[in-house]
Amino acid sequence: MATSVEQRRHLATVIPGPRSQELQARKLAAVSAGVGTGLPVYVERADGGILVDVDGNQLIDFGSGIAVTTVGASAPRVVQAVKRQVEDFTHTCFMVTPYEEYVAVCEKLALLTPGDHEKRSALFNSGAEAVENAVKLARAFTGRAAVVAFDHAYHGRTNLTMALTAKNMPYKQGFGPFAGEVYRAPMAYPYRWIGDRERVAGEAFEAFASQVRAQVGEQNVAAVIIEPIQGEGGFIVPPAGWLRQVAEWCREHGILLIADEIQTGFCRTGDWFACDHEGVVPDLITTAKGMAGGLPLAAVTGRAEVMDVVSPGSLGGTYGGNPVACVAALAAIETMEADDLCGRAREIEGLFKARLHRLAEKFDVIGEIRGRGAMVAVELVLGGGDTTPAPELTAAVNRHCHSQGLVTLTAGTFGNVLRFLPPLTISDELLGEGLDILEQAFVANA
Ligand SMILES: *Cc1c(COP(=O)(O)O)cnc(C)c1O
Repeated sequence: MATSVEQRRHLATVIPGPRSQELQARKLAAVSAGVGTGLPVYVERADGGILVDVDGNQLIDFGSGIAVTTVGASAPRVVQAVKRQVEDFTHTCFMVTPYEEYVAVCEKLALLTPGDHEKRSALFNSGAEAVENAVKLARAFTGRAAVVAFDHAYHGRTNLTMALTAKNMPYKQGFGPFAGEVYRAPMAYPYRWIGDRERVAGEAFEAFASQVRAQVGEQNVAAVIIEPIQGEGGFIVPPAGWLRQVAEWCREHGILLIADEIQTGFCRTGDWFACDHEGVVPDLITTAKGMAGGLPLAAVTGRAEVMDVVSPGSLGGTYGGNPVACVAALAAIETMEADDLCGRAREIEGLFKARLHRLAEKFDVIGEIRGRGAMVAVELVLGGGDTTPAPELTAAVNRHCHSQGLVTLTAGTFGNVLRFLPPLTISDELLGEGLDILEQAFVANA
């Protein structure tokens, strides 16, 4: 695949190097401490599977800026489309004087998202904003207030989405009071389900349905919001059939199902959307991250009768569906289609899982390997049969990878999940080299 950056790992200095350290000192003096940096190397260029920093280091990217640069960080089609668009115009505000590119993105979303019913979309700037608007629409359509989210869920950092997000530290600590009428239900988390693993799907569904009935009342619920594979919560993959059961239960009770596919969408899991794998058609779907080749764009797509229930002017925002972001999305989607990046995600899954399973034979601290497509994780535990989470080991392995020029990310409610989200344009060679570094990190720390 054509990339503008040499696809080779290279360490010129220690990580982070002296120029990055200087910039980090400036960062600490100028940027809020609330904005953390997982690996403070300052990036100058990036594409394919490589990030080049200001010290001349070339790092292998297993993060994609958190599942965003699915097509690469300077994918040729995206670069061309963006250059052309900024020369034509940068903004008009779609709500004032519209432009074709916004409509074209919404047409594409109608085609690609699950289900062949009539659909409409609305575009926004961030994932959290899309989630907020999906909840607004569900409430307006149903005339009900309650929203049910799950344990380990992550839906964003605005007030309503903090309420929907499960994890306190660091997302919610000190930031309350949170938006009301948000309820939490148990998640089907196979690895940590108490009881028989074979029965997780059924038991978790029963626990969810009975809890909502007892504590909320189905007739009060506007929507259930779910990540079909949980992202920040630790790449938790619910057992087959569970999502379908939840979807059917929602339909029975006139409750809308919102699939938050902000992290899982756009080829990441080996399908266009993670719901496709389960054959589930949500009423509303939120997308962002991988959609626009790195430019900020998010969407709510849903059944026409839901999306059209609100009055003109009730949805939107100054920048939502910015034309530069829209052409980037059209170019990124064209790249996914032309290069079969869904197929590439499935290949990447095969490569990762084969290596990780061999690693797990040597290191019993690897409690579980899970995920789908190019969204794979390992959950680390104390080992020797003890499944207690091992967040310190996770942090140590993560740091080791960073020091060797491999960008890895952690996740999970217990901070004990290493997750891998490489760009889908990464080469097999870089994937293999990254996995070698990961293995060395286990040898050195486990
Ligand atoms: C990242 C993410 C969000 C929030 O998106 P932002 O663009 O950071 O606001 C919401 N839901 C899921 C599943 C995410 O992964």
